[in-house]
Order: sequence, then structure tokens, then C-alpha cells
Amino acid sequence: MKKYVDVILPLPLPGCFTYALPDEVTNLPLPGVRVVVPFGKKKYYTGIVRNVHSNAPEGYEIKEVFSILDEQPILLPQQFKLWEWLSDYYLCTQGDVCKAALPSGLKLESETVVVYNPDFEADEVLPEKEQKILDLLSREEELTITKLEKQSGYKHILPLVKSLLNKEALFVKEELRKSYKPKTETKVRLAEKATSPMFLKIFIDALKRAPKQQELLLKYLELSNYAEATYPKEVLKKELLKSASATQAALNVLVEKNVLEVYQSEVGRLEKHLENHVTSLNPLNRNQQCAHDEIVCSFEKKNVCLLHGVTSSGKTEIYIHLIEEAIRQKKQVLYLLPEIALTTQITERLKRVFSAKLGIYHSKFPDAERVEIWQKQLSDDSYAVILGVRSSIFLPFKNLGLVIVDEEHENTYKQQDPAPRYHARNAAIVLASFYGAKTLLGTATPSVESYYNAIHGKYGLVELKERYQDIKLPEVVPVDIKELRRKRRIVGAFSPYLLKQMREALERQEQIILFQNRRGFAPMMECKTCGWVPKCQHCDVSLTYHKELNQMTCHYCGAAYQLPKACPACEGTELRSKGYGTEKIEDEVKELFPGVTVARMDLDTTRSRVAYEKIIADFESGKTKILIGTQMISKGLDFDNVSVVGILDSDTMLNYPDFRSHERAYQLMAQVSGRAGRKNKQGLVVLQTRSMEHAIIHQVMTNDYEQMAEHELAERQLFKYPPFYRLIYVYLKSRNAELVNQMAYEMAARLQAIFNNRILGPDKPPVARVQTLHIRKIMVKIESEASVANAKELLRRVQQEMLCQEQYKSMIVYYDVDPM
Ligand code: ADP
Ligand code: ZN
Ligand code: ZN
Repeated sequence: MKKYVDVILPLPLPGCFTYALPDEVTNLPLPGVRVVVPFGKKKYYTGIVRNVHSNAPEGYEIKEVFSILDEQPILLPQQFKLWEWLSDYYLCTQGDVCKAALPSGLKLESETVVVYNPDFEADEVLPEKEQKILDLLSREEELTITKLEKQSGYKHILPLVKSLLNKEALFVKEELRKSYKPKTETKVRLAEKATSPMFLKIFIDALKRAPKQQELLLKYLELSNYAEATYPKEVLKKELLKSASATQAALNVLVEKNVLEVYQSEVGRLEKHLENHVTSLNPLNRNQQCAHDEIVCSFEKKNVCLLHGVTSSGKTEIYIHLIEEAIRQKKQVLYLLPEIALTTQITERLKRVFSAKLGIYHSKFPDAERVEIWQKQLSDDSYAVILGVRSSIFLPFKNLGLVIVDEEHENTYKQQDPAPRYHARNAAIVLASFYGAKTLLGTATPSVESYYNAIHGKYGLVELKERYQDIKLPEVVPVDIKELRRKRRIVGAFSPYLLKQMREALERQEQIILFQNRRGFAPMMECKTCGWVPKCQHCDVSLTYHKELNQMTCHYCGAAYQLPKACPACEGTELRSKGYGTEKIEDEVKELFPGVTVARMDLDTTRSRVAYEKIIADFESGKTKILIGTQMISKGLDFDNVSVVGILDSDTMLNYPDFRSHERAYQLMAQVSGRAGRKNKQGLVVLQTRSMEHAIIHQVMTNDYEQMAEHELAERQLFKYPPFYRLIYVYLKSRNAELVNQMAYEMAARLQAIFNNRILGPDKPPVARVQTLHIRKIMVKIESEASVANAKELLRRVQQEMLCQEQYKSMIVYYDVDPM
């Protein structure tokens, strides 16, 4: 009987697509296997088989599957369930989810661009067709698969490309990640069989007649500290050749003789010896042990537990113990972090304990590496612990037992664009439930939603109020900059008090962190004569001036502009900058503290992981004395010589137009304050503000999370916000401002007819045009106990009714469920 497959394609289209299996296929593909299928006139895609059946679809001509790529599924049943949940809950398609879930190397399509790997050396002769493809590609920088197909004259080359990808003969080109290329150094080490002292002694004796080689080998042993260390130090090839005055030829001979070997090591990666050097766990102190036991106990009754522990209370140590226990029970663990920023320090701590059992899944890693981890998770040799960012919830797990969501309050867990606009913390809780696994949420400043769930018994709640080793929480001193400005006692961004504290800290050889939550030099430029403000041509937003690049950039679409020679309004030639970005702070600090080493950490200085790691390493080692940064520096970093933290401007955070702005401001300030303090000494936080009377300022000073949360909860209840109401934003976008307006009003009216006063708007969002698209927003507020499924069904129906109308056909409509 003819067989068919329903396939999920990585396209933003609803539903599955049905294809026929060619008659010659005898081994039916399993659900979760990838297939290549034609789509549209000339394109093809890699899709995922959802199910196999014999119901011939009616009403259209059915196309055939080109080829089947896998024998075994690359998705497990729980992944399918997660995809379904995500597309239902976040009102998007499974294709959207598929796109986000799979690394590029697993979803080849005709438009995928591939590049030749110049370092590829074949272990064996390649099949003729693969060799030809590789030859073609080696002549060009890059080709799309369609072009490769044309040039080779072969049909349907995807399976060939896949095989070459597996051999790492070629790579999928990653436009966005082009800048990331791990820097490597060539190093030298003893070959496996040459490590024994006995062997070395005999061998060195035998080298009497080859003094150059003998010298080189002895030098290696000296540099690597062979005699003393259990784990020899890594030795750079360059350094070895230089200090032994040896030639490459001499080294080559020793390599040929299998005594030394040469290897590449990524700069910034963990040193090899660390990987072997597994240490045992740190014992927990009494408070930590109590918290640990309470968590274990809570897991017996509840699936989710919130660990609310002040900064530096040793939450990470507790996680490590829980992970170890899960592994002993042969369970897998997923450890989620909000972003790359945090991974460096935590990676090192976990690697020391779990070494080869730990896999790291990271959006800034090369795609090939992510594909490798994916495949490894499907094999019998999968990682026991995955440390990863948002997208690691998509990895296949065979036996997930525990999920840890570190810094659970972080809003970067929510994906903004494109769909699926999912919250990784919430998705992780759902994923864990599919496995019967437990989820631990950890943070010093819980999200108001999680806190609410915890105090109302939906989650367990465990608190840890003391810092490890009783280091005191920092003293927070507010400084009234409104008053200082009025009295003209402040120039630039620094109050006299903060300057004094900084000076004294530097004299004591201590370090300083300055927090300014804005990158660039100035958030706005202005004509000195007439007040004209340069704006982005594509977005309704003023341009940020970047001094280092000497240009203005739009932080919404990325467009860059030259500084205008004259004001287009009055032809005045003087522009002045308004407001402070991190770059301007850096300038001022350099002027105020000449000769003091300063580093800046924001999106602009951390484009690559290497740059990021260097900033942290230099600050850790004390090379840098003052670190200036955006919210990036507020996150879980642990430095032990920081005595002063300056929060330069709290008002922008407090006045941001969003119902979460107070919560966010508290979290940011409390987190960045948490970076201050060292052994035996209390740290100091200087909090500059124009709103001395603001409740949040007071709560940060007294470290009173509970008061903040209770106050917020009361407001949220009063004004109908989460967790009492569920929010869904409906976005409409179009190049045509009038049309989008008209549609927004019409759609809001239809929705009001169904949902009554649960519909607000339409409104213009604060930035109402981005990348030439005009945006309107309709807000839906649903009681949290009401049926969301029902509401979503109605929303989808109204959307369909709207999009059926000819005039609105080209409009973009999408949803943001639980917006952040
Ligand atoms: P948190 O995650 O709560 O911010 P950390 O786990 O990073 O706290 O702990 C803060 C510091 O104290 C780290 O440098 C950590 O190594 C150290 N520390 C915490 N608990 C212990 C412990 N039980 N044994 C040894 N060191 C610890
Ligand atoms: Zn002007
Ligand atoms: Zn723009």
C-alpha cells in the first residue's frame, strides 16, 4: 500500500505537509527522522517526519519525498511534545519552533550556503560524487546548495552535502556568527606512550648523537614542569622552539618518532590539564546544607522549587551537589543560564567537578559544534549535564531528571524576535514535567511571578539569607543628584561622594564597578542652535552616538549614520550630546583617573566570546582596576576584590514605561550591588538618584525584596497585570501607516465584541516604527483562571477573519504571549 508522511517544515506556516514515500522505500522512516522534500516551485527543505500513514490526501497533487536523511530519529517523543506545547501556548507554528530548535547543520535547504573547510584531510578516499562536490566548492568561497547542484549536474545533492558535513569537509555558513572564529595556538605535548619517566630516560640517552633533538626534548620537559607537576603545563610551540633555539625540522623528527605531538588549542578555552584534574565537591556549610535538604524535601511534594538566596550565598555550590546526586541516580541535568555572559565562570566551576560529563550548548559556538552535541545527546554516550542558554531546552534528552534555571528572573530568558517568542524558564518547567523531572529556580531577586507561585504553594520555597562565610551584604548609600545639580556641585556623571570613595578604593588597591545601563557614547544628539535631533530613517527613534566608531547607530535596526556636517533645520554646525552611555562614562573616568586601567563591558565590546572572556579575566586578575558596564556586569559574576560599586543613573530604569520597570530596576540594582564585598570587609554601593523618596531606592538600601514584591503584587492586582492576569499582545505591522491603523481599530473592535473590556488599544508602542514597518499593538488581558486555550482559539479566529479581507492580505500579525 502507498505510504505517506506528514512533515514539519521549518517555515512559518501552520500545520504539517503531507508527502508520498517513493515506492522503492522499504524501510519506513520513523517519526523524528529528517527527510528532504520539495516545496514551492524549485525549492526544497529538510523537514521532520511527524508520522507515517496510508491515508492519501485528497484535493491536490501530492509530491514525493526526495530522500530520507536519517535512520534513527533526531527528535525524541518529548521534543515533539515540547514543540506542540510551544506552538500552542505561544500562538505560533510548529515550523517556527522547528526553525528555532534545530542548529543550521540539521536543517539544510536549497538556499543554505555552504563553505569549504580548507583544513579538511580525508581519512579515506571520498566517494566520487562527494569528491566532485568538494572540488567545486574549493574553487569558490561559498555556494548555495542550489548552485552546487547546478554546477555538479547531480540531482538532489542534500544527502551528499550531509555526508560531507558529517566529515567536516564543509561547513554551513553562518552569516550572523561570521565574526566568531575561535583563536587557536599551536602547542606541544608528550605523546601518549612517551609519558613514562623510564621511557624518557632511555630515549634521551639514545639521542646523544642528535643533540638538537635532545636539547629540544629537555627544554620541553623543563618548560612543562614535567618533573614536579602531576599535570604538565601546556607549552606553546613558538615558545619551545625559541627557548631551545631549535628548528621546526628538529621538532618534526621528534613528532615522527612519536615522542612529542603538536596540537591546536583554542585560546580562552579551559586548559587541558584542568579537564583531567577533577576535584571533589566543596562541602556545603550549615546553611547551604539546610537549604539543600529543604529543596530535596520540597521535590518530594512539588515539581518546582524556588531557591531565593542572596548574592554569594553559594547557590551554585548547592546546584553542584544536586547535579552530582542526579548523576549518581543516572539522570541527566539541564542547567540553564540566561546568556553567554555568565557561562565563563560557571563553566570553569562545573568543569572542575564534572569534566567530561559536561556539555556546553551555546549560541555563539560554531554550528558544527552544536550539531555534534545534538548527535551526542542521541547516542549512548550522551552528556550527563548540559550547561546552556535559552535554546538548549530544545536538545534531545533521554533521561532528564533535573532542570536548574539559574538567575530565573532574567528577562533575556524570553525570546523577543522572531517566533517562537517563548520564555525558556517556563518552557523548561513544561519540558521537565514531560520527563517527570524536577525544576529548581534560583536567584537572589525572584521574578514577581515566581515569588507569587512560591508563596501560594504552587512551588516550593527555600530561602538562604546569609552570604557564604558571613561576608556582609554591601552598604547602599544613596546620593541625591537632583540636589547636587541644583547647587551645581556635580559636573559630569560623578558625585563628589562617589569620586571620593573611588579614590580611596584605588589607594587601597581595591577594584571598582560602575554601572550605567546604556551603551554607546550618548543616547541622543541635538543641534545646539535649534534643538533638532537626528533620527533613524527606518525607525521612530533617536540615534545613539558612538564615539569610538565616530558614527550614530540605530539600536533598533542597526543602521549606521555619519554625523551630519550641518543641521538640516538651521544649518548650525554644532551638535551636542545628551545623556550618558558607557562610552562617555569611560571617557570621563579616564580623564578623572589618569593612568588607572579601565575596561568597558557592553554589547559593543563583547562581540566575540574571546573579547568577553578577556575583559573578565583581566578584571579577575586585577589587571583592570575599574570596570564599566551595562546590565551585563550585573549577572552572577563573582569577583573578590571589588569594594565599591557605583550605580550612576537609577532614574532611567525607574521611569521606563513598562509595568515591570520597578521590579526590573530593583533586580538590576540589587544584582549589581551584589558584586561588592570581599572577605572580612563590607562593600559599598553608591546609588546616584534623582528620586530619593522612591520606594524602590529604599528597598534596595534595606535589601528588602519581600517589601518590593508585596508592593508590586498589590499594584499588579489593582491594575490587572500578571500574575493575576495573563497578557497577550497582538502586534500588527505594515509599511502602510494608514492601513495598519485602520486594521488595528477594526480588529480591536471585533475583539472587544468578544472579550469586552479585556481588550485595550490599539496603541502605538514607544517605538512605533521599526525597519520601516509601522507597528500597532492591541493588549489582551485574561483572568489567569480563565481558559487560555479558549481565548487563543478566538484570537486565531479573529485573525483569520481579518486576513481574509483583500486589503489586509499583506499585513503582518503576530502575538507575544506573556510579554516581558
Ligand atoms: P551564588 O551563586 O549564591 O551567588 P556562589 O555559589 O557563586 O554564590 O558562591 C560565592 C562564592 O563563595 C564563590 O566564590 C564560591 O566558590 C564560594 N563558596 C560558596 N559556597 C562554598 C562552599 N560550600 N565551599 C567553598 N566555597 C564556597
Ligand atoms: Zn539646528
Ligand atoms: Zn532604525
